[in-house]
Amino acid sequence: AVSIQLQHCGKTYPNGAQALQPLNLEIAPGETLVLLGPSGCGKTTTLRMIAGLEFPDAGGRVMFGDEDVTALPIEKRGVGMVFQNYALFPNMTVGENIAYGLKIRKVAPAERLQRIETLLEMVHLQGLGHRRVDQLSGGQKQRVALARALAVEPRVLLLDEPLTALDAKLREAVRADLNRLLRKLGITAIYVTHDQGEAMALGDRIVVMERGKIAQIGTPQEIYFQP
Ligand code: ADP
Ligand code: ADP
Repeated sequence: AVSIQLQHCGKTYPNGAQALQPLNLEIAPGETLVLLGPSGCGKTTTLRMIAGLEFPDAGGRVMFGDEDVTALPIEKRGVGMVFQNYALFPNMTVGENIAYGLKIRKVAPAERLQRIETLLEMVHLQGLGHRRVDQLSGGQKQRVALARALAVEPRVLLLDEPLTALDAKLREAVRADLNRLLRKLGITAIYVTHDQGEAMALGDRIVVMERGKIAQIGTPQEIYFQP
C-alpha cells in the first residue's frame, strides 16, 4: 500500500471562492482516513485534489509515496472512486460495469470474467453479473460501484459519501461489508462523510474539517472519548 501526503495544499476556485486554506496531511499506507465535517467545509475539494480532479493552488504538492502526482490527471494516478450517487452505467449489466476499466486496459476476456467473479464474491453479489444495474437496490448498486472501483487494482480508494443515498438498514449492511473489505485489502483509503457514526466506525483516523481548515485530527478515541 502507498502513503499519501498533501503538502501545503490550498484551493481557490476560479470564481475566487477559497475552499481550502493551505493544509498538510499525511496518510499512512493501508490507513482509512475519514474527512468529517458539515456541508461546505472542503471535504470534497480535498478528496478531488487527491483524485486529480482538482489541482492545488500554486505551491501545493500531492505525493503518493515518493512520487509527486500533483500534475497527474486521474487516469494516471491509480485511484478508484466511489460516489454518493453510484455513477454506474445504467444500461449495462453488473458485469459490464465492473469490467469497464479492465476492457479499457485490454485485459483478456477470460481473465476479465475471472476477475468479475472474484469481485462479485468480494462484495456479496454472486450470481448477479448478468443483471442490469437499473434493476438493483441502492445497496446493491453501491456494491457494484465498489467492485468497479477495485477492479483495476487502484493504489488508493476514494469514497465520497458512499452510504448517504441508502436507507438506514442498507446503510448499516454496506458499512459493515465495506469496513471488513477495507481491513482485508489493506488499501489506503480516504472516506468523506458528514456522519459522525460512519466516521467512528470506519476511520483509523478522523480529520474534522471546519470552513476550509483542519480543526482536529486523531483516532476516533482521541476525538470522541477524551476525559
Ligand atoms: P464539502 O465537500 O465539505 O461539502 P466542498 O469541498 O464541496 O465542501 O466545498 C467547499 C467550498 O468550496 C464551499 O464553499 C463550496 O461552495 C465551494 N466550492 C466547491 N466547488 C466549487 C466550484 N467548483 N467553484 C466554486 N466554489 C466551489
Ligand atoms: P464482453 O466483452 O463479452 O462484454 P466483459 O469482459 O466486458 O465481456 O464482461 C462483461 C460480460 O460478462 C457481460 O456480458 C456480463 O453480463 C458478463 N458477466 C458478468 N458477470 C459474469 C459472471 N459472473 N459470469 C459470467 N459472465 C458474467
